[in-house]
Amino acid sequence: MKCSVCASSGETHQLSASTTSYLGRLDNGNYVIIENVPCLSCPNCGEEYFSASVAEKIDEILRTMEKSLERVQITDFAGAA
Ligand SMILES: [Zn+2]
Repeated sequence: MKCSVCASSGETHQLSASTTSYLGRLDNGNYVIIENVPCLSCPNCGEEYFSASVAEKIDEILRTMEKSLERVQITDFAGAA
């Protein structure tokens, strides 16, 4: 897989597997930080890409977190149900 941000400027950079922290804002105004989210990152521009299954699990985690009244929640991607 190649970086589409770099590709738009005529360069091609191969993405490499990495992990990142994801900051999500819930509909109720609270925030969720998910750590150690697997992603593909571009070594040139730093753009990060999530696979469909990872994006799906992030959605799931955010939905679960919506039930909590905590203003800011921090969870681990691997440890979240
Ligand atoms: Zn790039």
